[in-house]
Amino acid sequence: MASQQFDLLVIGGGITGCGIALDAALRGMKVALIEKSDFASGTSSRSTKLIHGGLRYLKQLEFKLVRDVGSERAVVHRNARHVVIPEKMLLPIVEGGSLGKLPTSLGLLVYDLLAGVKAEERRKMLDRHETYKAEPLLNTNGLLGGGLYFEYRTDDSRLVIELAKSAYANGALLLNYAQSTKFIYDSTGKVTGATVTDHNSGNSFDIRAKVIVNACGPWVDLLRKEDNSLKGKRLQLTKGVHLVFPYEKLPLKQAAYFDVGDGRMIFAIPRDNITYVGTTDTVYNESIDSPNCTKADADYLLKAINHMFPSAGLQLNDIQSTWAGLRPLIHEDGKSASELSRKDEIMVSSSGLISIAGGKLTGYRLMAEKIVDLAEKKLGRKHTPSTTKNYRLSGGEFKDEDDFTNSLKQFLAQGEKLGIAPQVVSRWFYRYGKNVQQLFEIYLSQSKHANATELTETQYGVKHEMVHTLSDFTIRRTGNVFFNYPATKSQLPFIATAITSLLNLPEEAKTQQLSRASSEFEMVVAFKH
Ligand code: FAD
Repeated sequence: MASQQFDLLVIGGGITGCGIALDAALRGMKVALIEKSDFASGTSSRSTKLIHGGLRYLKQLEFKLVRDVGSERAVVHRNARHVVIPEKMLLPIVEGGSLGKLPTSLGLLVYDLLAGVKAEERRKMLDRHETYKAEPLLNTNGLLGGGLYFEYRTDDSRLVIELAKSAYANGALLLNYAQSTKFIYDSTGKVTGATVTDHNSGNSFDIRAKVIVNACGPWVDLLRKEDNSLKGKRLQLTKGVHLVFPYEKLPLKQAAYFDVGDGRMIFAIPRDNITYVGTTDTVYNESIDSPNCTKADADYLLKAINHMFPSAGLQLNDIQSTWAGLRPLIHEDGKSASELSRKDEIMVSSSGLISIAGGKLTGYRLMAEKIVDLAEKKLGRKHTPSTTKNYRLSGGEFKDEDDFTNSLKQFLAQGEKLGIAPQVVSRWFYRYGKNVQQLFEIYLSQSKHANATELTETQYGVKHEMVHTLSDFTIRRTGNVFFNYPATKSQLPFIATAITSLLNLPEEAKTQQLSRASSEFEMVVAFKH
């Protein structure tokens, strides 16, 4: 990276930065991307993990946002089929709630129409009895009915990784644990590069590029300040937390989206062995690097969930893990956290630095298209239309639904021959898609090992997904800490040994990784105690 001149340097390896890197690489630009920590370690691993149009933005009359983001759902689903799964949602309608029966029915209809939803996935309205049948844990007090509609569930950090791998496959160079610390300017004041610290080696080097994009999410304004261009629009960070419960503590039949009573709505989403609940939306002015879930956040969500599903009787010590993320929103005078628009915003400084913030996971591709169009202009290149709309991400190279279903069947059959349990093959398939073939090849070389499947996945992570630490693997490549903490805990020493030996790190690196991970996980499970 230090020895070349790039067309585009992207700073920030969340969904926004990785989306931009892919679009630009596909249009033939020479691209570098740096990420100060791990890919997706910022907001992009801490969302509600939905590819959704944002039903609640209809209440705020943000029709264009709902249409743009809503219709993107099908695109993201098609291009990353293995990590974007249709999810049926139940919207209960209750007496005194912010959504009446008729407005909900109309709202969901408008939502479907704006987003161009397929006929079989259109909303279905339910009466009181049908709603209760759909979800027997619901509070029947004041229950009037409900609506069933479709969204998509994803694993946000896996989506980012698949994007990063796709960008790399198309010629972009990407580096995690590399932080931009200072901008470099030419004699006219134009930004021409950045000085970067490689946290793995401790070395610093310069990267030169004709166009530089600041895609640092909640950190966007820190870089604008560094560029002396923090004027006009500014970020307003708001925090959102999620709580994870063992599935048997909140055994919902499908995901639910419901009123909290203060004008806000929250999700409860069952997934494998857990159900997670979120989110909150509070103004945040503390450390950007370490947002976490406070007892007040947990109490707020517990109260809401126990009101909607009283028989669950959830308590603080039922919480298995938590995560907290920061929304990089644009400040608007006089508006509360949840009233701030989720629209994205592009800011170009007099030095030429392009900054992008706001937006949604779901709309990443449209944001990337706008940024790369702008970069093309700055580079003085002829316009080439973005091709990401029909570009299948790494692992998601399925022709159609039949190919998807048949691929899973074939992998299960292949796995059986190799002696890999079907649950493991299926889990791998929904993580790595068609790349499961590469995991099988790694497995063949160590099938005799007592922990062969765990070793295979760890090796795949180190060799193909730039895993450097225990947290990279257990939080962002697999989600195991959030979704399967009890089982993951016992495997940590083994995984740390595998990672450090694959990376040829000294023995003390293993101890360091274990202690760093244990303090990170302590934050994640703070309410266990
Ligand atoms: P980030 O993911 O934060 O990435 C920025 C990156 O820049 C970070 O990884 C950081 O380490 C890096 N960085 C910072 N400074 C430097 C530097 N100096 N050098 C190098 N790298 C640097 N959207 C949806 O579509 N669906 C949802 O369900 C959803 N739920 C959400 C729930 C919550 C609680 C929150 C907070 C957001 C949610 N969103 C959702 C919104 C979505 O998650 C964000 O819009 C998106 O993840 C922002 O991505 P980003 O890449 O812009 O920022």
